[in-house]
Amino acid sequence: MSYGGLSLHRQREFACVFAVKSRKTTVFIVKPVLFCSFFKGAFCAAINQHYFFILLNMAKKKNTTTIKEIDEQIRLLRKSKTNSARKTKKAAGEKNQTKKDAGSPLRIIPLGGVDGIGKNMTVFEYDDDIIIIDCGLAFPEDSMPGVDLVIPDTTYLEENAGKIRGLFLTHGHEDHIGAVPYLLKKLNVPVYGTRLTLGILEGKLSEHDLLSTAQLIEKKAGDVVKAGIFSVEFIRVTHSIPDSCAFCIETPVGRVIVTGDFKIDLTPARGESINLGRLAELGNSGVRLLMCDSTNVERPGYTPSERVIYPSFDRFFAVKDKRIVIATFSSNVHRIQQIINASAKHGRKVAVTGRSMLNILSAAVRLGYIDIPEGILIDMNEMKRYSPGELTLITTGSQGEPMSALHRMAFGEHAQVTVGHEDIVVLSSSPIPGNEKMISCIVNELLKRGTEVINDSTAEVHVSGHACMEELKIMHALTRPQCFVPLHGEYRHLKKHADLAKQMGMEPRKIIIPQTGKVIELTKRTIKARGEVPSGAIMVDGYSVGDVGVTILRDRRHLAEDGILIVVTAIDRYTGNIVTGPDISTKGFVYAKESEALLDELAKLAQRSIERCLHRGVTDFETMQTRVRDELNSVIYQRTKRRPMIVPIFMDFSL
Ligand SMILES: [Zn+2]
Ligand SMILES: [Zn+2]
Repeated sequence: MSYGGLSLHRQREFACVFAVKSRKTTVFIVKPVLFCSFFKGAFCAAINQHYFFILLNMAKKKNTTTIKEIDEQIRLLRKSKTNSARKTKKAAGEKNQTKKDAGSPLRIIPLGGVDGIGKNMTVFEYDDDIIIIDCGLAFPEDSMPGVDLVIPDTTYLEENAGKIRGLFLTHGHEDHIGAVPYLLKKLNVPVYGTRLTLGILEGKLSEHDLLSTAQLIEKKAGDVVKAGIFSVEFIRVTHSIPDSCAFCIETPVGRVIVTGDFKIDLTPARGESINLGRLAELGNSGVRLLMCDSTNVERPGYTPSERVIYPSFDRFFAVKDKRIVIATFSSNVHRIQQIINASAKHGRKVAVTGRSMLNILSAAVRLGYIDIPEGILIDMNEMKRYSPGELTLITTGSQGEPMSALHRMAFGEHAQVTVGHEDIVVLSSSPIPGNEKMISCIVNELLKRGTEVINDSTAEVHVSGHACMEELKIMHALTRPQCFVPLHGEYRHLKKHADLAKQMGMEPRKIIIPQTGKVIELTKRTIKARGEVPSGAIMVDGYSVGDVGVTILRDRRHLAEDGILIVVTAIDRYTGNIVTGPDISTKGFVYAKESEALLDELAKLAQRSIERCLHRGVTDFETMQTRVRDELNSVIYQRTKRRPMIVPIFMDFSL
């Protein structure tokens, strides 16, 4: 500690009093004596047990300040700021000239996860090395009738197959691992993930007959994997599924942190909390880029801990004469643990229904992620041996899915379970946007049956697995990134998250809102969007992957909205005569029995159209189909204001 050129501690044993003068202040330093007197603008302060400082402001103070003086101060301040900014810019420019960006940029390519919740997949490429983070699926939108799943387009990876060093999975949710089987069918790359993530993945791979060939490499939080030029560290985070991780990727242009899905839960239902210490440590030693979950960025405050819902469970499970039917996401192992705990406490046996629920439960039990007391689980068939107050039934269908067990129960179609006034149905989840109507439909049916229904708007029976605004700020504050790319959300979420980064002081030019397939180039000094790769959504329908495209979807929507009209005619192309028909049949267009007159008229119209063609020597089926379709189309529209799909079919009966 020094002041005015004197080291105080070193002077302790010498003179009794020093007087140190600066331009406006005089400091007296004296040996410890009781010294406490005030005089003419002086004040005393005790610094430690040895010394007292007396600071005398010797400057002559004026009692009044004029506006002119303030104005002058502002001018001087502004001038000094401009000068220092110029100097900094000049220095930076010189630095840039001497030290240009060495080497290639890191190319970051989102193949999904940035245009809605689902199909998360991000590619990191540096020269001859590629790593992939996550490979998830999305569920089809309303505009995709008949489609089962949507997966990311991986053409770019197939074109660069030789460069891929590994696929790294953050956690075991469908939107992060659901498309792995489809990727591995094309590219058998090593897959790194934690125990539960790989445990859930194994179930999927065996359904696709890939388990024996897949290279699954188990890692735990804290492990570091070298993958080509990259090294990837697994960092523990908390989320609605155990064993979730963030990744710290060391690259030649600096450190990149990908948070994966997370919330800051300091009291998770089971297991350890998010490793904030490690994130802060990385922040202290420099993070070039943060890529962060944006799901709940619009929600202020903090997401409550998973543990806050236990008291609600405790209250409902204590009701003596009612059976608890509880629906939740099958992957929410922590939630299932809490349901088991509450059931055990109140002497309830637990039955489980729903294929995905049973699959994940078996993986969680096998791998030790859930504690179930012996004898508490019972088969569905055994339920009739117990009274309602002794039973809990865990089911899927919290999103109102039409094929789910809860849906069938609500509509009285479940083979083993009938719900009624002896049940409390708990929806331990919140609706995924778009599912509200289906859930509402189930709630109405349950209420009609006299069932009590509890959901997250009536009691604390659900908490989100994603970080709210204040938690996201903590993530930014701990990692202190130089650049930022928001992930996992619709555009509005990503934009809001970008605004949050700006609010926290990041320059707008260091933030990029990602788009599917658009390449982000990161160097040691810059970040910019440059170029794009093939990308999009591949639709999976049954066994077929990718053959359902825009045309098929358009036809499906057309059929769904307007129905179909089929015109079958047998002709003899050789003689130019109609042999039989045209016969008209329809589906989804008009009720045939009540529209016989219209259908007869259409048949005659088709006949005249075909005869005209044949008369003019037009016998190729394609031309005839177009003529018939056009003529029928306009008449049908005039009569009905509808446009069914018209399919003329010709059969050639010429010998
Ligand atoms: Zn997710
Ligand atoms: Zn997730």
